[in-house]
Amino acid sequence: MPRPHRPPLQHVFHPANADHYEATLTAGLQHLLGHLGRVTGPVRGTGPDEAAARVAAVDLDRPLGDLDQVLEEMSHLWLDDAVWFHEPTYAAHLNCPVVVPALLAELFVASVNSSLDTFDQSVGATFVERRLIEWTAERIGFGASADVLASGEEHPDGIFTSGGTQSNLQALLLARGRMEQEQVSAERLRIFASADGHFSVQKAARLLGLGDIAVVSVPVDAGHRMDPAALERSLAASTALGLVPMAIVATAGTTDFGAIDPLPAIADLARAYDTWLHVDAAYGGGLLVSPTRRGLLDGIDRADSVTVDYHKTFFQPVSSSALIVRDSSLLAPVTWHADYLNPRDAQTPNQVDKSIQTTRRFDALKLWLTLRTMGPDLIGEYVDNVIELAAEVHVRAVDLPDLEFVTAPSLSTLVFRYLPAATLDEQTLARLNNDIRSALYASGAAMVAATRVEGRQYLKLTLLNPMATAADILGVLDLVRDHGARIAADLPQVEVVR
Ligand SMILES: *Cc1c(COP(=O)(O)O)cnc(C)c1O
Repeated sequence: MPRPHRPPLQHVFHPANADHYEATLTAGLQHLLGHLGRVTGPVRGTGPDEAAARVAAVDLDRPLGDLDQVLEEMSHLWLDDAVWFHEPTYAAHLNCPVVVPALLAELFVASVNSSLDTFDQSVGATFVERRLIEWTAERIGFGASADVLASGEEHPDGIFTSGGTQSNLQALLLARGRMEQEQVSAERLRIFASADGHFSVQKAARLLGLGDIAVVSVPVDAGHRMDPAALERSLAASTALGLVPMAIVATAGTTDFGAIDPLPAIADLARAYDTWLHVDAAYGGGLLVSPTRRGLLDGIDRADSVTVDYHKTFFQPVSSSALIVRDSSLLAPVTWHADYLNPRDAQTPNQVDKSIQTTRRFDALKLWLTLRTMGPDLIGEYVDNVIELAAEVHVRAVDLPDLEFVTAPSLSTLVFRYLPAATLDEQTLARLNNDIRSALYASGAAMVAATRVEGRQYLKLTLLNPMATAADILGVLDLVRDHGARIAADLPQVEVVR
C-alpha cells in the first residue's frame, strides 16, 4: 500500500540531494567568508541581557522562509557577536585559533556522521583513532622504558573524549576501579591534587560519589608547582589516619600559570604509596610535539594515565581530547558488554569498550588530517611560538610601574594586575581591575580573563595565537593601562598600607 504522504526530503544528506547539499554549504561558506572579512576585533561587546532577548524572541515552531533568512537570523543571534579566537587581541581563556585541515575534517565528520562506538558503525575510523592514541602514547613515552620493553607486558591505550573534564573524570574512574579490586570503601579514598589543579578534579570526585572531602589540596611553591615535600606530608598524614590514596593528579600546565608540577618527584611518591598517577596535561600536552621544549614534560611517561586536550595546544576545534593510559588493562572499569552493541564474544574491535560515551563523534579525524597535512613539528613550532611570545611580553612589560605581574610565565599565560601609583585597598583594586576587564569587553578592542590568587583579584592573558606578535599583546596591555588610568582617576583614594 502506498504511504499516504511523503514529506519533502531534500534536507536529508543523500546522493539524490547532492545539489541541495552543495548549494547549502556553498551559501554557508560564502556567508562565513563575508563575515570573516568584516571582523575587526575579538568581540562586539554585547551584554547578556541583549543577547538573551534576541534569542528569546525567536518562535521555534515557525521556520523561516529561505536559507538567506536563516543565515541572517543566525548572524543576528550569534555570529555578529561571536568571540574570535584568531584575533591577536583575544587573550582571555584557553581557546586557540583552529587550523584549516581540522576544519576540512569537520565537514567530513559531521556529514558522514560515523559513530566510534563500534567497528560496525565506523570501520576505518576505529583504526584512525587507535593510531592517534598509539601515536600520542609514543610521544608520552608509554611502553618505551627498558623494563616494559623487556617484559613486553604493557600495551598503551586510550580513547578520544569530549574534553579535559571528561578525560580527568575517566582517569579518576579508572583509578577508583583499581581500588574496588582491592575492596577499599569509598569514604576512605583520597585524591591528591595541587591547589592550582583544575576544578574538574573536584567535579569528578563528586560524580564518582566520593564527595568534596575526597580531594586533598596540596600546597604549591612560589612558581605555582605542586610542592613534593608537601605532597609527601599529605600522603603520610592521610595514611596515618587510615585513609587510602586513590590517585595523585599532577598538572602539566596549570590553567592560570601554565605551571608544570615536578613530575619525577611526584612519580616517586606515587610509586612509594602504590598510588595511581594521573597527569593532567590538558594545557601542556602541546609540549609533546615541541621541537625544543619536550623536556619540560620529563617524567610524564611514569604516569598511569594522561589527559591531552588537542583542542587547546594542538589548535583543534572543540571537541578534541584524549585520555591515554599506560596499559590497556587499566581501561577495564569502563568496559560493559551489551548484547545489542558489543557482545562479550564480539569478533570486531569496539571502541565503546574503552569509553564512558556510547555514540561518539569521529573527532580523531581532525587531528589526523592536521598531522597528515602539517606534520607534528609545525604544530610544535606554534606551541613554542606562543610560549616565546609570553616570555617576550613579560620581559618588556615587567618593569612598567603600573602593572604588577605575579610571576614569570611558564607556558603562555601572564597573570598581572593594574596597580596605580595611588595606594588603594584590596577591594578597590579588585573592583578597578574587574572594571578594566569589563571596559575592554564593552569596547570590543580586546579580551582578557580574570582570576584570583591568594585572595587578590588579577587579570590574565592566555596566549594561544601563533599569529599574534609582541606588539599586539603589548598593545592589549596599553589598553589595560589606559582604561585603568581613566577609571582610577574617578576613584575616591583610600590610604591603606599594603
Ligand atoms: C582546560 C583544562 C581542563 C578542562 O578541559 P576541557 O577540555 O575544558 O574540559 C582540565 N585541566 C586543565 C589543566 C585545563 O587547563
